[in-house]
Amino acid sequence: MQPKKQNSFLYLIIIALVVSAGFLLWSKNDQVLEKVSLNTVIQQVKKGEVETINVVKNRLEVVRTDGSKEFAYKEGDANIYDLLTKSGVPQEQINNMTIEVVPTESGDFWLNLFMSAFPIILIVGVLAYMMRQAQSSNNQAMSFGKSRAKLYDKEKSLTTFADVAGAEEAKQELVEIVDFLKNPQKYIEMGAKIPKGVLLVGAPGTGKTLLARAVAGEAGVPFFSISGSEFVEMFVGVGASRVRDLFKKAARNAPCIIFIDEIDAVGRHRGAGMGGGHDEREQTLNQILTEMDGFEKDTNVIVMAATNRPDILDPALLRPGRFDRRVVVDLPDINDRIAILKVHGRNKPLSDEVNLEKIAKHTPGFSGADLENLMNEGAILAARHNRKIIMMEDLQNSIEKVLMGPERKSRVLNEKETKITAYHEVGHAIVGHMTEHCDPVQKISIISRGMALGVTWFVPDEDRHLYSKAKFEDEMASLLGGYCAEEAFFGDITTGASNDLEKATGIARRMVTEYGMSDLGQVIYGDKHHEVFIGRDLGHTKNYSEAVAAEIDKKITEFIDKAYKRAKDTITKNKTVMDKIAKELIEKESLSREDFLKFF
Ligand code: ADP
Ligand code: MG
Ligand code: ZN
Repeated sequence: MQPKKQNSFLYLIIIALVVSAGFLLWSKNDQVLEKVSLNTVIQQVKKGEVETINVVKNRLEVVRTDGSKEFAYKEGDANIYDLLTKSGVPQEQINNMTIEVVPTESGDFWLNLFMSAFPIILIVGVLAYMMRQAQSSNNQAMSFGKSRAKLYDKEKSLTTFADVAGAEEAKQELVEIVDFLKNPQKYIEMGAKIPKGVLLVGAPGTGKTLLARAVAGEAGVPFFSISGSEFVEMFVGVGASRVRDLFKKAARNAPCIIFIDEIDAVGRHRGAGMGGGHDEREQTLNQILTEMDGFEKDTNVIVMAATNRPDILDPALLRPGRFDRRVVVDLPDINDRIAILKVHGRNKPLSDEVNLEKIAKHTPGFSGADLENLMNEGAILAARHNRKIIMMEDLQNSIEKVLMGPERKSRVLNEKETKITAYHEVGHAIVGHMTEHCDPVQKISIISRGMALGVTWFVPDEDRHLYSKAKFEDEMASLLGGYCAEEAFFGDITTGASNDLEKATGIARRMVTEYGMSDLGQVIYGDKHHEVFIGRDLGHTKNYSEAVAAEIDKKITEFIDKAYKRAKDTITKNKTVMDKIAKELIEKESLSREDFLKFF
């Protein structure tokens, strides 16, 4: 659609209308002669009252001897001499008059032409306008099946591997892919087959899209990028035809890369929908598979795709010859986090005392996107305080903000609630502190954040990849510490512990059903891989009997009971010190690790 052009077209028509109206008025005003009949004129000629007759086509403009003017019409092709002679006007009388045949006056000519042509112009104009309208909507309909893949403009987006911090293995794989495209001969000579599909797999925010953009920037070949959801439209068949179009375009532009982001939108297990309605997606997926098979062996097109749900992808996508290369993009480890923080701190004024290593250490489990967000929040905080540089304190506050949502200072707790929250949090902290395997307490706070009234925050000294049974047990105890503290100090329990209980129960259930950590044995209960079809709980297919289900519930209860007893025990033994810590917490609203350790 080009609204501008259409508008100017409309203006043109309006201007033409105005001009022609003007013309008409003007020409009318000019011709104020009296109209008489042809007979009258002949009579006047006979009487000798006529001096001149100007013949303009079939119009006779008569100037009489008394100077008055009039006009009459004759038949179109009738000759004025014949006319007069036949009417019995003597020859000399005719000779006495001036008869002038005026060739159509130029002004008149143009006017006439315009007048006669105008309706045609108008009609043609309107028709053209309508056709254009029809065409543009037609075009939309026609281009519906065209892929909306964006061709990456290398000049504009200068993302390179240098912008991707860490993720060394992933980068290594992708550098190889880029090399395939640049020097295919090298690999073909070795008898190696160039891979067709590369699947980037990793948690959200780990930089999959970023990596793909970097490949586009590095490859030096055309790069078509499309999101899986763009294949799916309201109309049946659109997805498949878009896939066809995309691959056709790619084949024309080979060597090149096709990037399908969020491929899980179309690449789910086929035949797995709840209640049908997924035919469209299946057709799209089938088309992708067909097209990938359809490439000639030496067509130099590589299909990249990204997903954070590899588990729900159709197995056909993953078989050799399709997305047979998998590049796992992990959550960044501590060194990667430092590197990512540096990348995103590059164009920010950081104070000298800022210690990015320390920030990285306090942010296990953060993705690249989280870290970017953290740096950004830090900058915003600094700006809010009208500072010119970003301080360590800003970044530290941002960690909490990213983790737990913004502080809600407006939510004021009454004195009783504040007290309960303080003891509850100290309960978590002290039980955690007294166990062997819990991470060290990083901070205790009773400032509301997000949904939570207070937080106790444990941070491991180093990144953790394996969790032991003992650690889970300690964690459950610490989770129940809040509950036990409320019970021990106030003799009552509030809703504040509900989230803790949920988490503890979750851990206990997983210990029994997934990790084989109970004496129910080393069996996995329930099939995780069926959840994906229908949603978590609905689809949790039970592959165990009701009797086993009861056993599982019993084991979960046992784990929780044990944790509760341990927490209660710790709190009873540490009531005095808890009182002191809670008082200071109420006063200061938050305690750092050092503040907390002082009490021991
Ligand atoms: P995904 O596609 O995996 O969900 P994105 O690629 O969209 O994640 O990443 C989101 C943002 O996070 C990126 O734009 C980038 O700024 C930041 N980011 C993620 N990983 C990294 C990384 N390894 N290095 C630098 N920035 C990163
Ligand atoms: Mg992405
Ligand atoms: Zn709690």
